Amino acid sequence: MRVAVVGAGVVGLSAAAALLERGAEVVCYERADEPMAERSVGSSRIFRYAHREPELVRLAADARAGFDRWAERSGRRMVVPSGCVISGADVPTWAAAMEAADAPFELQPDADRLRLPTRRPPAEALLDPSGGVVDVDAVREYLTGLTARALRREPVEAVDADGHVWSRSGPARFDVVLLAAGTGTSALAARVGVSVPGELEHHARFTFPVDPAVAWRSWIDLPATGLGTYQHASGPGRWAVGGHLDPAATAWPVGRDAATAAARDEVLAYAREHLAVEPRIVETVYCTPTPGLGDGFHVQHAGRVVAVHGENLFKFAPVLGTALAAACERD
Ligand SMILES: Cc1cc2nc3c(=O)[nH]c(=O)nc-3n(C[C@H](O)[C@H](O)[C@H](O)COP(=O)(O)OP(=O)(O)OC[C@H]3O[C@@H](n4cnc5c(N)ncnc54)[C@H](O)[C@@H]3O)c2cc1C
Repeated sequence: MRVAVVGAGVVGLSAAAALLERGAEVVCYERADEPMAERSVGSSRIFRYAHREPELVRLAADARAGFDRWAERSGRRMVVPSGCVISGADVPTWAAAMEAADAPFELQPDADRLRLPTRRPPAEALLDPSGGVVDVDAVREYLTGLTARALRREPVEAVDADGHVWSRSGPARFDVVLLAAGTGTSALAARVGVSVPGELEHHARFTFPVDPAVAWRSWIDLPATGLGTYQHASGPGRWAVGGHLDPAATAWPVGRDAATAAARDEVLAYAREHLAVEPRIVETVYCTPTPGLGDGFHVQHAGRVVAVHGENLFKFAPVLGTALAAACERD
């Protein structure tokens, strides 16, 4: 089977690796100079079993087993097991999903168990002891090593439902074309009549210095009022914080610089008031998510084209790669 994978982000590379393992002939097209340079950029992501739906909790458990397999093969740990705390008014929904999926969790752990950098512990909290931090550098090194022979640094201009791919080296035909192109998927999928949301917004995550000896848990805080955030260790002595700003401040027409400046001001003010971090930004990670998607992913197909899109996909990478490879085989 000849498969074109469009996009060498974590999703495309995971699928390419799974396809190569199944004996497929794979060409993975990437328009950027380096793989994993757009939505998969940076060095860390939150891993968690905790989701609002039991199906996603189960998938996260499968993904964790996949990360462990990758770790065994590469000799490098992929998930740092710090645990993850979810806090805010929605905690009962997350708890119900964890319960339905038979996943371990603790409700209302005491402050010692919470292990968060905040001066004001949240009123409602759920501890997901299986959560932690994905080491993106380890994943990148593993996947790019496995897929190096398949990678072609060329933008794909168009695809059709018969399996044709147009790039600067001319048209090529494949048994299946997998669109895993992140921000590029919507335009390519539209060519074969598949509708994928194409709207984008600006998002920035900021890293603060902390005492390297601290071992805080990853944290998703969704308070009823005030700034919602996600936070996690991003290497020793580094604490990353992303804020869920008013959508008007991060909308596409606002522009990258103004939206990043607004996010920086808000996250910095939040860090000064609430967090036990040095309020000095040492790294900014910028990307362009699709607004309003939330957790989870969607796979659609038309003829020989399979298209995937979603948000917060990093934590699902191993399971998504295997599932997409199987979807390609089923055509
Ligand atoms: C700051 C930040 C924090 C995040 N936090 C988390 C988290 O805590 N947990 C979590 O699970 N997820 C998190 N995410 C989301 C997660 O990282 C993304 O969902 C995931 O990396 C998406 O991977 P992808 O392969 O779909 O997209 P991408 O990494 O964007 O890959 C798509 C690739 O396709 C290429 N491409 C596009 N168009 C074309 C074309 N026409 N031809 C050739 N190549 C093309 C692009 O250059 C790109 O490399 C976060 C993302 C960011 C940016």
